Amino acid sequence: MSGTPRPLRGMFGGTFDPVHNAHLRVALDIVEAGALEQLHLVPCHVPPHRGDPEVTAAQRLAMLELAARGEPRFRLDDRELRRDGPSYSVDTLRTLREDYPGDHLCLLLGSDSFVSLPRWDRWQELAVHAHIVVMRRPDHPLELPPPLTDWLQGRETADWAALRGEPAGRVLFQDVTPMAVSATDIRARLADGRSGRYLLPDAVWDYIRDNNLYGAGGYAG
Ligand code: ATP
Repeated sequence: MSGTPRPLRGMFGGTFDPVHNAHLRVALDIVEAGALEQLHLVPCHVPPHRGDPEVTAAQRLAMLELAARGEPRFRLDDRELRRDGPSYSVDTLRTLREDYPGDHLCLLLGSDSFVSLPRWDRWQELAVHAHIVVMRRPDHPLELPPPLTDWLQGRETADWAALRGEPAGRVLFQDVTPMAVSATDIRARLADGRSGRYLLPDAVWDYIRDNNLYGAGGYAG
């Protein structure tokens, strides 16, 4: 059922290890496509099974802060880092709803994250708190597992207005600028003595190099 249109606020979570131009560009694509009032960039705790993080949470946050500067609709949000241990997106969304009771929320997921959704804690509850916007990644074709195809029935919409008119529960697939950039690839390049320039904002690259992150300290450029 459609109600009075509300402001639309997005949540974009990630490890951002490091944040790169594809994160920023696709985030802006979504802000523009949906005319979002604000998009929260939410760095998560790195789960232990990912292996030892090479940089601290404070450094990931600092890079995100440098990256988000200059785009007023991006909002750096460290709420997951302020809680001890890993936090689940469903809990993070609940706290956002408490903070912004007048807004509707949408959770941004790349297509790789969306197909992994059935492995997330209380994943079906996500749609109680927010809409889900899936960003189609060229490097990750959408192959939906059966629980997701069933769950999608009746939820899919191509109309951004539905996300303002209904409180939660819709799924919208949005094409975004194809950019096959990943943090994994950037870390590998840096470990290999190559440059990260032009894959991340200049300020982030300078920070990485100046702080000798990911083995990039010896780089002169
Ligand atoms: P890693 O390579 O370390 O797994 P990543 O570059 O995929 O990292 P994450 O921080 O894990 O970045 O991703 C945060 C979110 O950004 C995820 O939803 C992911 O799908 C999305 N994302 C990352 N890179 C891209 C890209 N090139 N295009 C579209 N979405 C992306």
